[in-house]
Amino acid sequence: MAKVLFINGNVHGHINPTLPVVKELVKAGEEVWYFSTKEFKEKIEAAGARFVDYGSRMYELFQAFKPSGNHPFYTLIEFMLEMDRLAISLITENAAGEDYNYIIHDSMFGGGSVLAKLLNIPAICSCTSFAMNRLPMPPHMFEPGYNPQLDNLYGKVKEASKECGTQKLDIMDIFFKKERLNIVYTSKMFQPESESFDDSFRFVGPSIAEREECLDFKIDKEGNKPVIYISLGTINNRCVDFYKKSIEAFKDENWRVIMSVGNKTDLGLLGDIPDNFIVRNYVPQLEVLKICDVSISHGGLNSVGEALYYGVPVISIPQVNDQYMVSRQLVKLGAGLELKMEDITVNILKDSVKSVMSDKGYKACSTEIGRSFIEAGGYKAAASFILDFIKEM
Ligand code: UDP
Repeated sequence: MAKVLFINGNVHGHINPTLPVVKELVKAGEEVWYFSTKEFKEKIEAAGARFVDYGSRMYELFQAFKPSGNHPFYTLIEFMLEMDRLAISLITENAAGEDYNYIIHDSMFGGGSVLAKLLNIPAICSCTSFAMNRLPMPPHMFEPGYNPQLDNLYGKVKEASKECGTQKLDIMDIFFKKERLNIVYTSKMFQPESESFDDSFRFVGPSIAEREECLDFKIDKEGNKPVIYISLGTINNRCVDFYKKSIEAFKDENWRVIMSVGNKTDLGLLGDIPDNFIVRNYVPQLEVLKICDVSISHGGLNSVGEALYYGVPVISIPQVNDQYMVSRQLVKLGAGLELKMEDITVNILKDSVKSVMSDKGYKACSTEIGRSFIEAGGYKAAASFILDFIKEM
């Protein structure tokens, strides 16, 4: 039995896919210590791991973090670096005297790699976005002097390199820390430029397993009535205007609509909810997708992957980060459409759903990608890659 240090953040999309893998590892006899935030305690423990809370200093960082500029990518990296530095120090304090055998860290926690070097144990990368082997912007945007926020970031990266004393860090270490084994929760078919990744990248497809949550939410298909699922994910989802337009667009159609509006949206702001709608702050998404005909999504890789896994075409409305890349890939492979949030009207929503429902090509392409996901092996394949890798170390 080995003792595993699992290092992750505080968002559903990065944690959900890892939980079935953890369950599998625990089943195989591994003891998993999982660092995250208290919101995820129950889920992590239900997977059989020991949950370890980063504690109050991490929550203070979430409250107090202020980027030094307003460029979305530099801001993301600034935040990840701060979180990483704090996580390294919190885990080091907590791990004193613990004899971990290996580390699994989220791809955005380069700190996991630093810790692995300090503890002299192997590290594995868990990648819930697309795999990346280069930064997502042209090289001139990383030239010192290009932007004051970037220069500030370079200063912080230098400080962090000094702190960890092991190696010189760079922005790619913070954005995507590659290891000798990298588990990616999509298939080669859906990964852009998949041929550019070496064999250390294992594309296992979405990690889909029964989730023991929202057990009181039951939903069955009512005859042949089409079902539409709407969700903008769990982070940037306070979009009352968009939800109201969706209600207006679909209220008179003979469709059932399930809409998840996120924990930050007050349901009272949405006005009267029509009879053909079910609106909640959070729904059991996998159960909904099993009976769904079209998904309207923010283009999060997990949500899109989960929809395609069940052969459901997606209308994607990307807003930040990798959502643009996911949407591009979705459209390129014929499994859905992309809309711009600022262009959305009631008629555009209605027409987009009608065109995805009537053109069977979308369904066929979604089903084909879904097949590539199933064949990739999911969480079971992820766990076997991890156990085989560790056996060979
Ligand atoms: N999710 C869910 N119910 C909801 C909304 C989201 O179960 O009502 C889950 C969804 O299945 C997915 C994750 O939350 O696994 C969202 O991840 P994604 O990468 O799609 O988006 P993010 O929330 O990170 O923007």
